[in-house]
Amino acid sequence: MLKSTKIAIALGGNLGNPEENFRIAAQKLIDGGCEELQTSRIYRSAAVDCVANTPDFCNAALCGKWKGSALELLHLCQRIEREAGRPAEHSQREARTLDLDIILFGDEVCDTPELTLPHPRAQNRRFVLEPLSELIPDDRFPDTGMKIAECLRKSSPKI
Ligand code: ADP
Ligand code: MG
Repeated sequence: MLKSTKIAIALGGNLGNPEENFRIAAQKLIDGGCEELQTSRIYRSAAVDCVANTPDFCNAALCGKWKGSALELLHLCQRIEREAGRPAEHSQREARTLDLDIILFGDEVCDTPELTLPHPRAQNRRFVLEPLSELIPDDRFPDTGMKIAECLRKSSPKI
């Protein structure tokens, strides 16, 4: 039997209908093999460090169990992003329909061109920590040993 890994994914988006895109993404993750999926509520925040008139961002978090590899999960996330209409090449902080980032993949720590775990910018991004702490406040980032709720308390209110 394949080992099951506890995973956490952050969702973001500010174009089209993010609520609907998040709902569809969660269903596609389940269809793609993600088990015991739990979802946070959706948080809305003003765009930071973006060009003028960038629409507000919506963010949410998911956690669940995954039986394949981290790269298989990344490729499923990337397919779901493309199907939501996101172009393959994309600059950071640009308006987007859907962004799926793998925040935690069990205790895995890696840094390759394709995948960095845990997600490198998660521990100081409020829009990632706040929804995640609804679901798994006591889970720890394996590289720093910090709890999600602890990182949230320390994070700047602006990011
Ligand atoms: P951001 O999510 O920081 O706004 P992008 O979504 O545009 O940036 O970045 C996508 C790239 O990040 C992809 O090429 C993907 O291979 C890489 N990447 C590295 N680590 C991760 C991760 N943990 N989760 C999702 N994508 C990752
Ligand atoms: Mg991303």
